[in-house]
Amino acid sequence: MLLVEKISEMQAISASLKRENKKIAVVPTMGYLHDGHLNLIKKAKSSSDIVITTLFVNPLQFAPNEDFDKYPRDMERDIKLAEEAGSDYLFCPSASEMYPQNYGTLIAITGITSKFESAMRPTHFNGVATVVAKLLNATQPHFAIFGQKDFQQTLVIKQLIRDLNMNIQMIIAPTTREEDGLAMSSRNVYLSEQERKDATIIYKALGEAISIVQKGEKRRKIVNAVMHKELRSVPYIRIDYAAAADSEYLFEPEEFLPSQQIVLLIAAYLGKTRLIDNALVTVPTI
Ligand code: AMP
Repeated sequence: MLLVEKISEMQAISASLKRENKKIAVVPTMGYLHDGHLNLIKKAKSSSDIVITTLFVNPLQFAPNEDFDKYPRDMERDIKLAEEAGSDYLFCPSASEMYPQNYGTLIAITGITSKFESAMRPTHFNGVATVVAKLLNATQPHFAIFGQKDFQQTLVIKQLIRDLNMNIQMIIAPTTREEDGLAMSSRNVYLSEQERKDATIIYKALGEAISIVQKGEKRRKIVNAVMHKELRSVPYIRIDYAAAADSEYLFEPEEFLPSQQIVLLIAAYLGKTRLIDNALVTVPTI
């Protein structure tokens, strides 16, 4: 696996691969790789000839009070894991390469960014959209792979690719979980032993909500209440949101319609650690 730090070098490599008719897939990450990321790399490899993993902890998507400085980093380990999973290139630019002096462009996505993650982190998705656009311009892929784990982010990137007419196919890979259901996340290392045990409540709450929807419950408030009740069985949990919404536009109708696909979205703090997770469920037709 080749390490590339400069945008111009990455673009030249990509152009040369394209001249050889190679199909290129990119997997954007912030590093501290776990099986969730590695499954994206493996999926990328199965759909293309060349996989470029990007590793960049993007300062633009962290608010000043967030964990940018203490976000876990381990470059040596990431290099080894990405290579073993099948990555051909690791694009790891510095912050000054991505945002040099006099950098001045921010991409703002509207609509789907009016709620959930954005309500709690108002500048987050502008930072995500901007860095993803830059990473896609640097790597020039045919395919870009993202995880369902960050559900609202997948909608933001879909919108970005569509609105800016990027000729890139987006692939969304399912969430990789620990054996007890906890969604893998680089931030799970922040959890204490007790918090780690209690964190499975998020997966259980999603399961409860899936189950009542599958049994015919269409009232949004009831579905939300079921998730809240389950989550509160861990008394110290702080719920940012636990909500059912239309999976395409994040609308929140009073009642969902038969055959509508719902996304169940949860963000909650266990101690100081904020975890997010989600699940999809389709309302039965009768
Ligand atoms: P991050 O490094 O957290 O920014 O994540 C990089 C990519 O990996 C994003 O597309 C995430 O959605 C995806 N990802 C993170 N955790 C998981 C997981 N547990 N399962 C699947 N994809 C994941």
